[in-house]
Amino acid sequence: MSRFVYADNAATTPVLPEVADVMRECFLQDGMYGNPSSLYKKGQEANKALNDARAKIAGVLNCKPTEIFFTSCGSESDNWAIKGAARANVKKGKHLITTKIEHHAVLYTMEALEKEGFEVTYLDVDSDGLVSAEQVREAIRPDTTLVAIMYANNEIGTIEPIKEIAAVCREKKVICFTDAVQAVGNVKIDLADLGVDMLSFSGHKIHAPKGIGALYIKTGTRVHNFLDGGGQERGRRGGTENVAFALALAKALEIADGRLDELDAVKAKRDRLITELKKIPRSILNGSEEKRLPGNVNFSFECIEGESLLLLLDSMGICASTGSACSSRSLEPSHVLLAIGLPVEHAHGSLRLSITHETTDEDIDYILECVPKVVSRLRAMSPLWNE
Ligand code: PLP
Repeated sequence: MSRFVYADNAATTPVLPEVADVMRECFLQDGMYGNPSSLYKKGQEANKALNDARAKIAGVLNCKPTEIFFTSCGSESDNWAIKGAARANVKKGKHLITTKIEHHAVLYTMEALEKEGFEVTYLDVDSDGLVSAEQVREAIRPDTTLVAIMYANNEIGTIEPIKEIAAVCREKKVICFTDAVQAVGNVKIDLADLGVDMLSFSGHKIHAPKGIGALYIKTGTRVHNFLDGGGQERGRRGGTENVAFALALAKALEIADGRLDELDAVKAKRDRLITELKKIPRSILNGSEEKRLPGNVNFSFECIEGESLLLLLDSMGICASTGSACSSRSLEPSHVLLAIGLPVEHAHGSLRLSITHETTDEDIDYILECVPKVVSRLRAMSPLWNE
């Protein structure tokens, strides 16, 4: 049996036909090429479409349309939230809090701020990758201005207790930002209930194209503008708006939201993968079993190189990942796996499979046929492997 199975949806997702239709219509419809800032009718039509997209997104996430700002990607949203809030609140202090398992869009932003004189506390996580609201409470100091903790981890799928963390931040009057790039579309998010001040997300993780993201900024949050320019996005983010991609993001989010109750079927497939892959000798499931994204599976196999595993799976038609997508070309062990306490050699041998609604039972069968075979083959060649 040979087939193609795309199991790397945490890295990126294909654009859905309905989403592509929305973009095509926007690109080709007379009048939609206008600049949304122009006062004549063509511009105003584009502006109306942009604001309709904003209103749809706000409707799904339960916030005000004026609290949604379009950006170019999740990384830009993360940079804006963190640098913008840190720099806007220096009168109160220069202490920031995050975790050791954030995406590099957050970790490297924090490192850049350290070079500007900010002090950053990197919270430890437990062996499941969880941080607690209590840890956040203990780390907050009088000069803390921002807590930045991801909603769900991109490698091991662990879902953090963001609502509890936001409540601590509110009590301590500290801004709470969450990178929800992996969570939006995979978990129900109600911003009025969640209580964070800022939240980032990205189109290409939810079947919209690469090149569009957004940042929710709750009204009244003190945060500097990120891109100086022509006054777009109500003066907060310069750059002529990408109307077609904003419409695509709104459409993709609406579709994902409409399918949230189908996620139990995705979870069932994920759990089948987990149960079966656990049967491989000396395999370790990484991340929390209960507080886990519906489509995430992450294993380490002793005495296996992640890169070799990926290449062999690729030759069998399976796309998967080792470490995070953005660092998958690096030979460094994953900082996330090291932070949950894996020894370096196990952190090197990890496999992330990320599935969606589109993954079929036959795809799961095929993965389960190939992965144990590949693991055995690589172990047979390994001088380190000892039955
Ligand atoms: N944050 C997390 C948790 C991610 O998984 C990613 C992408 O993998 C990003 C941020 C960056 O998003 P983008 O690729 O849209 O810049």
